[in-house]
Amino acid sequence: MHNTLLLATRNRHKQRELEELLSPLGIKVISLADIPDCPEIEEDGQSFEENAIKKARLTALHTGLTTLADDSGLEVEALGGQPGVYSARFAGEPGDDEANNRKLLRLMKDVPAEQRRARFVCVVAVSDPNGETRTVCGVCEGRIAFGPRGTGGFGYDPLFIPAGYTQSFAELSAEEKNRISHRARALQRLPELFPGWP
Ligand code: IMP
Repeated sequence: MHNTLLLATRNRHKQRELEELLSPLGIKVISLADIPDCPEIEEDGQSFEENAIKKARLTALHTGLTTLADDSGLEVEALGGQPGVYSARFAGEPGDDEANNRKLLRLMKDVPAEQRRARFVCVVAVSDPNGETRTVCGVCEGRIAFGPRGTGGFGYDPLFIPAGYTQSFAELSAEEKNRISHRARALQRLPELFPGWP
């Protein structure tokens, strides 16, 4: 199983992005869909790091496989860092991307262009089968649009304009988003955790 990682995510968009980003590193990926009896892990931590470590560690201990988990979300400056660790369920349970985006736009309705700074943050944790876990973090700075734009991606992509661009993440190609995203930036640092890989 050398160079094989179990991805501890049930979000198929994230899974596809992670697969696209990991395959050039020579890392083979299997998913939770290949492990039918894996328990659902509650994301109840106060930080992205806490959640990523918990998911990676418990899944690795349960399966005996080296496991990668990520926890990510959007931090909006004008909202004191919200939605943060609550990004997936900002508008309540169960998580609903469109409702989350509507809530974000409503809260940002009176915020002027120069105060709409935001960042996507991703913490990736990798745990070995003994539960020893290490993390890397990636950040993508940008701003919140005044309305949704584009149809690609997922989550807050239609509302997030990365720094240096005029298009939203949802208007960029998957390749372009995967070059600059918070997840890409975290994963670019994975080799630091695995000097022997690939
Ligand atoms: P997680 O699955 O707990 O990491 O929650 C991540 C949530 O943050 C997602 O449900 C999205 O709402 C948001 N998010 C994370 N990464 C992205 C991204 O690349 N684009 C848009 N939204 C994202």
